Amino acid sequence: LTDKLQDAFKGLRSKGTLTEDDVKAALKEVKMALLEADVNFKVVKQFVSSVQERAVGEEVLNGLNPAQMVVKIVNEEMTKLMGSETTELMLQDSKYITVIMMCGLQGAGKTTTAAKLAGKLKGKRKPLLVACDIYRPAAIDQLEVNAKKQEVDFFSMGTDVSSVKIAKSAMDYAKEHGHNVVILDTAGRLQIDEAMMKELRDIKDAVTVHHTLLVVDAMTGQEAVNVAEQFNEKVGINGIILSKMDGDSRGGAALSTKAVTGKPILFVGMGEKLSDLEQFYPDRMASRILGMGDVLSLIDKAVEANAERDAEKDREMVSKMKKGKIDFEMYLESMKQMRNMGGLASIMGMLPGMGKISDDQLPDEKQLARIEAIVLSMTPEERRNPKLMSPQRKFRIAKGSGNDIADVNRFIKQFEQMQKMMKQMPGLMGGKRGFGKFG
Ligand code: GDP
Ligand code: MG
Repeated sequence: LTDKLQDAFKGLRSKGTLTEDDVKAALKEVKMALLEADVNFKVVKQFVSSVQERAVGEEVLNGLNPAQMVVKIVNEEMTKLMGSETTELMLQDSKYITVIMMCGLQGAGKTTTAAKLAGKLKGKRKPLLVACDIYRPAAIDQLEVNAKKQEVDFFSMGTDVSSVKIAKSAMDYAKEHGHNVVILDTAGRLQIDEAMMKELRDIKDAVTVHHTLLVVDAMTGQEAVNVAEQFNEKVGINGIILSKMDGDSRGGAALSTKAVTGKPILFVGMGEKLSDLEQFYPDRMASRILGMGDVLSLIDKAVEANAERDAEKDREMVSKMKKGKIDFEMYLESMKQMRNMGGLASIMGMLPGMGKISDDQLPDEKQLARIEAIVLSMTPEERRNPKLMSPQRKFRIAKGSGNDIADVNRFIKQFEQMQKMMKQMPGLMGGKRGFGKFG
């Protein structure tokens, strides 16, 4: 093979897909971004290695460089890790009472979030805010004030009754007064301790709690992971609310808490105002954590452009095929697309009338590569119009591609036969499951 061709070949083999080196280099940067965003170290390590596994060998989209392609994959995986889709807070039928228990450390934002949540549910249900924090009289007042602001009902029994008793009584009260959502605001401690956990478990034993929601302060970053892990283990949580996302935190806590507990993030607190509670969007959070806004919007554009161009190419190819107008340029193109789509066998299997094809009926990769080399040795004009090739040219092409002249002749002949066949059966390629869709 000539050097030039060898180069072209090399390009063809490796440029289109991500190599291990590409991935490693790009992931170094991603790792930095994650650590900077205060994602838990263990989570970073695990995440990066799983992305590496997936990314090596993936096709690089046109318009992106390998590093950007890696970022694209990272972004997708991160979104997936955080739950892919927004998780809704599921409520019982409005005939029944849905019980939501807020838990978390002191100052995390339980009382505020309880009131925020009540306000959100007010339109659909009749919520009751219940003060189960009996250790700080101020906490009861705070909940009452917030309940008034939100124009929702409030229930309290002061500080002399146990939180379990309050929760039970609140259920009776709710039944009597037609409330169908009961939100229990519980006491937190500055640090995780067994007494707090036990109190929460006791409440759960006494009343049916449908959602135990953990409120964690996003600004505590790494610590949030520890808190979430402990609460999940000792009390059992169904979901997480990240408060104070309006602070300077870059969202590392979101990724870490979800990764560690496996529990979805339902809402994020975006400020002190009672309206500042937002649905959690994993994709937005992923962009925020990556902090690579420019790269991500570039990726979006590239994805769009690729889709458009592919669609355009598809239409062109189908219309050409229908007219039996295939040439070697198209052959090259479809080879490329076949690789993108997972090989010849899967595509042949999709073609109408082809049925299932076993591997040994197919030309193998080596053979395809040799054929590809033949086509690559032709000039673009020759590819479009094979008749231009003189015997001398065919000889040179054979030499240039490392084939015998007989191989080249046979291949060109086969190709001409295929052209003829297509002209005779225009319907073959026009079918719903034909190349129109996959080519
Ligand atoms: P609790 O001890 O868990 O009940 O926490 P609180 O609800 O009393 O909240 C503690 C402090 O955090 C209060 O000053 C709240 O106004 C504030 N806070 C709660 N949620 C948010 C939030 O999403 N953003 C901001 N900036 N402050 C919040
Ligand atoms: Mg409180």
